[in-house]
Amino acid sequence: MTRRLALFGATGSVGQSTLDLVRRDSEAWRISVLTANCDVAELARLAREFRPELAVVADESCHGALRDALAGTGVEVAAGADALVAAAQRPADLVMAAIVGTAGLAPTMAALASGHDVALANKEALVSAGELMTAAARASGATILPVDSEHNAIFQCLAGGRLSEVRRIILTASGGPFRTMSAADMATVTPAQAVAHPNWSMGAKISVDSATMMNKGLELIEAHHLFPVGLDRIDILVHPQSVIHSLVEFVDCSTLAQLGSPDMRIPIASALAWPQRMATPCAPLDLASIARLDFEAPDEDRFPATALCRAAITEGGARPAQLNAANEVAVAAFLAGRISFPAIVDTVRSVMEAEAPPPPASLQDIFSVDAASRAAAQTFVDSFEHA
Ligand code: NAD
Ligand code: MG
Repeated sequence: MTRRLALFGATGSVGQSTLDLVRRDSEAWRISVLTANCDVAELARLAREFRPELAVVADESCHGALRDALAGTGVEVAAGADALVAAAQRPADLVMAAIVGTAGLAPTMAALASGHDVALANKEALVSAGELMTAAARASGATILPVDSEHNAIFQCLAGGRLSEVRRIILTASGGPFRTMSAADMATVTPAQAVAHPNWSMGAKISVDSATMMNKGLELIEAHHLFPVGLDRIDILVHPQSVIHSLVEFVDCSTLAQLGSPDMRIPIASALAWPQRMATPCAPLDLASIARLDFEAPDEDRFPATALCRAAITEGGARPAQLNAANEVAVAAFLAGRISFPAIVDTVRSVMEAEAPPPPASLQDIFSVDAASRAAAQTFVDSFEHA
């Protein structure tokens, strides 16, 4: 049976990996929607190949260019934030949420509220609005299928188990490109060094998050919402080879792990085919040649981001949305060469020192916190630059 897949963030790293799998199994899937921010040339190329009903650019200034690029193809074209939400409400069997940042929050919420199952890569949406998103899924009966490799691993380990039987969830972390670097040396790293992840090929923002370990902190918050076993039951373990993608320890002290090559097409395939399995072109694990797997405790002195995230989710309310927004601004400033690498986490910490905004009751409240926190982070970034 052919299933309709709406793909948000089609031109990105996760989007392209998703399409790579769909391309190999075109009987199984029909792409209904493709979206991008403003990469018109790539979106148009994909739309000509996959012939969705609708192609959307988030940036309205790119509308005309997309219309021209798809003239005569019969693919409907739309632009803007409202068009993204409307696209997420269209009939679909699965929505892949692969936009980066809180830009993906509104369409992901719209998909869940419409009762569509969501394959969720867009962790920032869940970090900012975890309670609202999980409540929307519960209310509509939609399933959130985690695509983030660690959460997908946990989801697989939990199959057939109950959360009440979980003693501990162990999120593995590669440690990023600066795992063994001194704090003094980290002060001068460049964006090019930060995005060169040792194991994974990913978009720029998540690559920087991996280098600061903010990614693991965001994933801790993500895990807390997806697998509510209590924060004190979620640990982080550094595992430089990225072969074990996470582990679940049960009350009987049985521990299950999910292993695989560090290739995002494996967790994406797991989410696409769930509850079944599909073949992938990924490299099978060759444990004899890997020979050893290493583990170490995280060093929160050199990498304070995970502690900030734990504090944010412990306090709850608007704090995680505030932390996430400040991080998005700080990462963009670092990538633009405007602030140093350690200033990313300094920016987030400084924004979190302000009094907590009132707990968000609606998506609109989240957007207000997001906007105010971005402005506060921007002020901090500017002060760095002028220092
Ligand atoms: P990416 O930067 O490669 O792609 C992002 C996509 O979002 C692109 O299609 C882009 O056009 C679109 N986009 C960017 N800004 C937008 C905006 N303002 N409005 C609408 N669309 C916008 O990112 P990625 O690495 O594919 O990551 C996507 C998400 O998946 C992120 O939340 C990331 O944390 C998560 N994730 C990625 C990986 C990975 O291996 N790349 C692994 C786990 C989780
Ligand atoms: Mg991950």
